[in-house]
Amino acid sequence: MSGSVAIVGLGPGDHSLVTPAANAALDWATDLIGYIPYVARVPERPGLTRHPSDNRVEVDRARHALTLASEGRHVAIVSGGDPGVFAMAAAVFEAVEHGDPAWRSLSITVEPGITAMLAAAARLGAPMGGDFCALSLSDNLKPWEVVTARLEAVLRADLVVALYNPVSKARPWQLGTAFSLAADIRAPETPVMMARAVTRPDEAIRVLTLAEAREAPADMATLVIIGASNTRLIPRGHGARPYVYTPRSVPAAEST
Ligand code: SAH
Repeated sequence: MSGSVAIVGLGPGDHSLVTPAANAALDWATDLIGYIPYVARVPERPGLTRHPSDNRVEVDRARHALTLASEGRHVAIVSGGDPGVFAMAAAVFEAVEHGDPAWRSLSITVEPGITAMLAAAARLGAPMGGDFCALSLSDNLKPWEVVTARLEAVLRADLVVALYNPVSKARPWQLGTAFSLAADIRAPETPVMMARAVTRPDEAIRVLTLAEAREAPADMATLVIIGASNTRLIPRGHGARPYVYTPRSVPAAEST
């Protein structure tokens, strides 16, 4: 088969953060597939057929892409940030595993992008300077009990935690529950960063404490970072946001 699928990360928003390799894959494509706002970020050009979808079933979108590629088309599937982080890449491979065996001989490539967590961290300083993890708070694809069990485990392990998908219209209460769980395990003064629409015109980034964060609004475009016990702030004055960093060094546990 001569068709191909490129699974392309568009970065957090600003076009300067799309990699040259991602742009090359987009230039090569005959067909563009993805969730409407991501497809809208790719300029129209002759020879490129756009298939924007509001379909939330990612595996259906992946099957559509693979079907077009098996007809000889060069398909780019776009995701915001990195396509391997809570996005389309896993859906494509799930479709390949369970789909037409001929799809395995298509050219399938993944073009990485700058994920929201790293874009937000770069704005703040170095909050993910030590060990960290990323969790999706969405319970669309996994039971809520799994979300809370994982969150509790990583909070107890004292990792910095990046929370993707903190809130949606259908999931208004989950973030509050996550903060309550964090408050049981971490100190009230633990830094919590709410990074909204990073690198987009409506970017808004706040550095709060865990106690304050419980009252702070968040939406679908927000990434929440909960600091570890050694995450620190450097005040700057003049109304400037403090720098936030997590040193790489962790003191040895005191022997008793
Ligand atoms: N693949 C994407 C994540 C998709 S999940 C990536 O790698 O970034 C969608 C979630 O990502 C949102 O709910 C939000 O938590 C986060 N997100 C995506 N873009 C963002 C941005 N520019 N600023 C802040 N958070 C963002």
